[in-house]
Amino acid sequence: MADTDLFDAIKTVYTRMARAAIKAARDLTAVRLVAVTKEVSAGRVVDAIDNGLREFGESRVQIAREKIPVVREMTGVESLTWHCIGHLQKNKVKTAVELFDLIHSIDSVELASLVNEQATRSGKIQRVLVEVNLAREESKHGMGKDKVINLLEAADWMKNLQVEGLMTIPPFFVDPEKTRPYFSELRDLRENIEARGFVMKELSMGMSNDFEIAIEEGATIVRVGTALFGERRKEAA
Ligand SMILES: *Cc1c(COP(=O)(O)O)cnc(C)c1O
Repeated sequence: MADTDLFDAIKTVYTRMARAAIKAARDLTAVRLVAVTKEVSAGRVVDAIDNGLREFGESRVQIAREKIPVVREMTGVESLTWHCIGHLQKNKVKTAVELFDLIHSIDSVELASLVNEQATRSGKIQRVLVEVNLAREESKHGMGKDKVINLLEAADWMKNLQVEGLMTIPPFFVDPEKTRPYFSELRDLRENIEARGFVMKELSMGMSNDFEIAIEEGATIVRVGTALFGERRKEAA
């Protein structure tokens, strides 16, 4: 894709976001676009930066570790935010804490604790989200929603870990309307958690196929890849 295609894709995504926000009577500025750049080259990330995007999501720590320094080298823009949106393996925690501003995929007390320990060593407050597996799909990561409070209570003692919200990846449906119950369930979960005194400002939900529905249901972060950069290579998806 040439730059103009990327420009058009960005414009289309923002237009769709704005429509969804207006439809739900929400403030559009309360919804952030994270451009998912897995399988996208450093050069195209820089194109995206040149078109005004600043927040990027990567799902594999190993790949991000190669790509992020190259992007930094190629661009003069410093205010970039990197999101870890994929499953985080324990042996990748150190690198993840070095690379990412927000980790979306905390799904156990053990992982939270390891991230906190690494953040402490790095002298950083690591911002994280808790990944919730609402459909309890075996193939997906994330914790059951009944276990989230338990994690938050444990995380309260982890001084270098800042839990800012919840993330979910619903089952895929061709008809995006079918994802709505999952998004509203995550929003309800946040309300229940907030009623218990925790601050949970972020809801990371919605991808290319269903981000309008997610915005209508309260998403504060949408993670969009295909709608911006085109289809990924099959073997790499
Ligand atoms: C790949 C991915 C996305 C983006 O998906 P698209 O359908 O390409 O927009 C969002 N979130 C996560 C966790 C992903 O792995």
